[in-house]
Amino acid sequence: MKRVALLGATGSIGRQAIEIVEAHPELELCAAASGSTSLDGVDAPLKQVGGDLTELLDRAQPDVVLNAVVGFAGIHATLWALEHGVDLALANKESLVAAGELALAAMERGGGRILPVDSEHSALYQCLDGSDPEHVQSLVLTGSGGPFRGRTRDELADVSPEQALAHPTWSMGPKITIDSATLANKGLELIEAHFLFDIPYERIEVVLQPTSIVHSLVRFRDGATLAHLGYPDMRVPISYALTYPARAATPVAPLDFSVLTLEFRTPDIETFPMLALAREAGERGGTAPCVFNAANEVAVAAFLAGRLPFLAIAEVVADALARSAGAPARDVQDLLEVDGAARKLAEEGLSVA
Ligand code: NDP
Ligand code: MG
Repeated sequence: MKRVALLGATGSIGRQAIEIVEAHPELELCAAASGSTSLDGVDAPLKQVGGDLTELLDRAQPDVVLNAVVGFAGIHATLWALEHGVDLALANKESLVAAGELALAAMERGGGRILPVDSEHSALYQCLDGSDPEHVQSLVLTGSGGPFRGRTRDELADVSPEQALAHPTWSMGPKITIDSATLANKGLELIEAHFLFDIPYERIEVVLQPTSIVHSLVRFRDGATLAHLGYPDMRVPISYALTYPARAATPVAPLDFSVLTLEFRTPDIETFPMLALAREAGERGGTAPCVFNAANEVAVAAFLAGRLPFLAIAEVVADALARSAGAPARDVQDLLEVDGAARKLAEEGLSVA
């Protein structure tokens, strides 16, 4: 029996994770948490709405933590799992992006491992299959390009939250859906891939694959490229992470090759500057990725509240990055301060934008 602590149980990933756990007798929920939504319908012996997630984890003593909290709020749970050597099924990419080296150091001390839930990283993990980073020429992250792929900047000036929330291929929570529309999500994923797989940024590419059938690819130095294909359905990477290495069955339909065609495009980083900003933040290192993430969270919330135009999201983030030193964080306390300061800078940026 594998005991799963599910954090973010009421969200898009959380609800699909409950479906996976219920379908597999070898998985059992030992704890469930949300931010403010009631957990009344969730069958777990320990439940917590709001509060300190590490207290819940201390009590639950899980075999695996599925961190499906949205945003930087997931940081303490990620670090708890890594410090305790408990398997971390990671959907909450923001925590790894923001904590970077601190998270890797915690993993080194704790002896645990990260099983990626993000579909691209699950795909990369499977294509890499433990390969020596030296054998890898590059990682190729795929993205759909979001609802606004192909638009010009002029055509993006007045887009509404409703339009940005209409993702063409994935049904997800609101924050990541906006991140997909700005390409910030692919930017966060670029940094996530760097930390997960220890590959330098210049060897991580991004390519658009509008139907989200190819979940990512790895180019090896001998000229072979391995890809991971499947219909876009998060139950597959959730199940992979929770049942690893058993690769349990899921109800997802097999690919129908009689109708399948695959098309690839280059992302338009002039129209969607968040991808380039994330790459710059990643290459700068230190706490620049933490600043990128914090400013993005503030800007996305303001856009969803109707307080910020779509194109200004990138302006707020670029401004916060330009005004931050980005010095490395020595510990979590340092990181929390950098995150807080970046949020203040972004809030100031909102009033100027
Ligand atoms: P949702 O907005 O649908 O759900 C977020 C969940 O986090 C909710 O259960 C929410 O609880 C909970 N939460 C928020 N703040 C806290 C907190 N302080 N303490 C405890 N729980 C909290 O998001 P998604 O499920 O879409 O995304 C979750 C994470 O997974 C994100 O990091 C996202 O980037 C990543 N991800 C999501 C994918 C998807 O398909 N949805 C795909 C790949 C990655 P409440 O209901 O009370 O607000
Ligand atoms: Mg993804």
